[in-house]
Amino acid sequence: MPRLFDAHNHFQEFPDPADAAAGLRPAVCCSTGPSDWEAVRKLSEGSPSVVPFFGLHPWLIPEAGGDWLAPLGQLLRDTRSGVGECGLDALKPPSLAEQAEVLKRQLELAVLLDRPVSLHCVKAWGPLLDILRASRPLRFLVHSYSGPAEVTRELAALGGYFSFGPAILDERRVKARAALAEVPRERLLFESEAPQANGAPAEILARVHAGAEGLLGLPAGSAAELSARNGAEFLGALAEGR
Ligand SMILES: [Zn+2]
Repeated sequence: MPRLFDAHNHFQEFPDPADAAAGLRPAVCCSTGPSDWEAVRKLSEGSPSVVPFFGLHPWLIPEAGGDWLAPLGQLLRDTRSGVGECGLDALKPPSLAEQAEVLKRQLELAVLLDRPVSLHCVKAWGPLLDILRASRPLRFLVHSYSGPAEVTRELAALGGYFSFGPAILDERRVKARAALAEVPRERLLFESEAPQANGAPAEILARVHAGAEGLLGLPAGSAAELSARNGAEFLGALAEGR
């Protein structure tokens, strides 16, 4: 059984989060805001293969209030963790200007503490690129990626990784499939995005790997290998022992 690296999921939303992580190693579990930080921390303490990421997702900015930054910084210092899920979403409130400020604060923490970042981006590629050029996080991934080729080149030049989930299994998701073909192989990652799709996360991820191998003309088993290698680079020291 190869190691199945899961670049993005929300296991804390499962009734039994430890069970959701079965067969995945390592698995990046992203929190979304103060309300689930403790659940993700607990899960990672009980499941050594789970790498916790702590951050404030753009959708949850309204409910987080004004007092999230200092507790987030403390949590990151106290744990072997990454930063996220954070990012920009032009289709959801609050304004992109407000989302940008929240993202910048989190990228500052990532740079200060030398942590990888998990990014969410919907229809805000220009603003995201501007922020990344200014903030310069050392290691970041864009999850459920579907950006156009010129954005892929810019993100790759900034050192970015790209993660693909169950969307690539749907032939109507033309942009995601086109993006998969454009991404440099050494920056390619895969995610279960659990609990978005139905089924056990390890089975979803195995289907995503097989789908990507089909679309890219890669031999069976190579997507898992590639993702494990790239995932270890992305996580850096956080991968040790996981
Ligand atoms: Zn997510």
